[in-house]
Amino acid sequence: MDLSLPRGIRDVEPQEFELHQRIRTVFEELTAAYNFKPMEPAPLETLSVLRAKSGTQVDEQIYHFRDKADREIGLRFDLTVGMTRYVVGRKGMKPPIKLASYGGVWRYDEPQHARYRWFYQWDVEVFGDQTVDSDAEVMDFSYNLFKRLGLSEVKLHVGDRRVVEEYIRSVLGVSSDEKALEMMRALDKVAKKTQGELIAEYVSKGVGAEEMRKLLEFGSTRGAPAAVAGRLGEEGLKSAQGLSELSDILRDRGVANVEYDLSIVRGIDYYTAIVFEVKDGARPDLGSLCGGGRYDALPRIFGRPELAATGAAGGVERIALSLSSFAKAEPKSVYVAFTEAGLVREALESLSELRGAGIRSDIGIRSKNLRRQLEDASATNFRWVLIVGRKELESGSLLLKDLRDGSERLVPRNQYLETILSM
Ligand code: AMP
Repeated sequence: MDLSLPRGIRDVEPQEFELHQRIRTVFEELTAAYNFKPMEPAPLETLSVLRAKSGTQVDEQIYHFRDKADREIGLRFDLTVGMTRYVVGRKGMKPPIKLASYGGVWRYDEPQHARYRWFYQWDVEVFGDQTVDSDAEVMDFSYNLFKRLGLSEVKLHVGDRRVVEEYIRSVLGVSSDEKALEMMRALDKVAKKTQGELIAEYVSKGVGAEEMRKLLEFGSTRGAPAAVAGRLGEEGLKSAQGLSELSDILRDRGVANVEYDLSIVRGIDYYTAIVFEVKDGARPDLGSLCGGGRYDALPRIFGRPELAATGAAGGVERIALSLSSFAKAEPKSVYVAFTEAGLVREALESLSELRGAGIRSDIGIRSKNLRRQLEDASATNFRWVLIVGRKELESGSLLLKDLRDGSERLVPRNQYLETILSM
């Protein structure tokens, strides 16, 4: 008898299951703290609900079948559509409606590393508020979830479909809705294809080569939130106002590690405004760990045009893979990082002491900034990072960072070795 599983379907084995449980527990604790109410949308929907405004890409990805009474049924491919269908039907609920959900979803995706046909997602959504505060709320939640899980080096990459659309329409002069949407989809592929491949693909779909070149150049705009928002405003793009407001709110909420990146438009057509993805710089092989944004179009299609919506969903398997890098780290392994090239002598001194004590240790390359050194440290499975910084040295200490949970402590320079050895 053939006991193999269908392609792209897998068992969640004990070691991975433990990580799933940890992620779910932290997710549930944090949703309670952020006042999101837990619920679970139905696992099956009528096919027409799943097809609503999700575009051809999703249509190809839905697992669907006819039930015994010949109804067309599909398995949920995310939690967002079901949660929106649920809220749209509950007119008595008072906005803002903040819901959280966790569950398995099915997608007929092309299976590959960290891409499966059945996987778990966590999901938070805010319905009934049009302000950028709700977008900031789900980003704040996502940032703090990763931080609590110990993945404090992840980065939020934020874009805005309105800004890209305004550029396509007012600067490139595109008036056809279908063509504008097609160009947006091209931008969604920049991480996967070369500029040459994209131009060739979209020229064959009727987009001009020069239009594509300009769009791709615009899409390469990225940087610190306030700087990018300011630049877009100076270019006369009125819709940049949203990104500008968001930048202030994220700063006030203490959400760090944010980069504005105009190539982020997200694949699914239901998104309408600010969108974002979370990536782990130390694990570029995993793609995005979380994605989200505003999708006012979906409640509109379901018949509640006044019900705005924004949310985020994370891929549990990918987060588990990201966490497993730490799980493998030996308890006594130290990466020596330094904040400026002038401190290399002090850093090398510590490295020799660590190696002399038999502790697996390594050092960053002089040209790399601290963030890149921290990424290297987690990619190569170090548990600790000993950070040599000017200010700390002046007070006779070094900073010791635990990569497992992101916590940091100051240790006296002449005692750090004992501290590490005693842990
Ligand atoms: P999405 O619902 O497409 O916005 O995806 C949200 C998150 O789910 C992504 O950021 C990924 O972490 C995860 N994800 C999406 N597709 C897959 C897949 N086929 N296999 C595993 N994880 C996935």
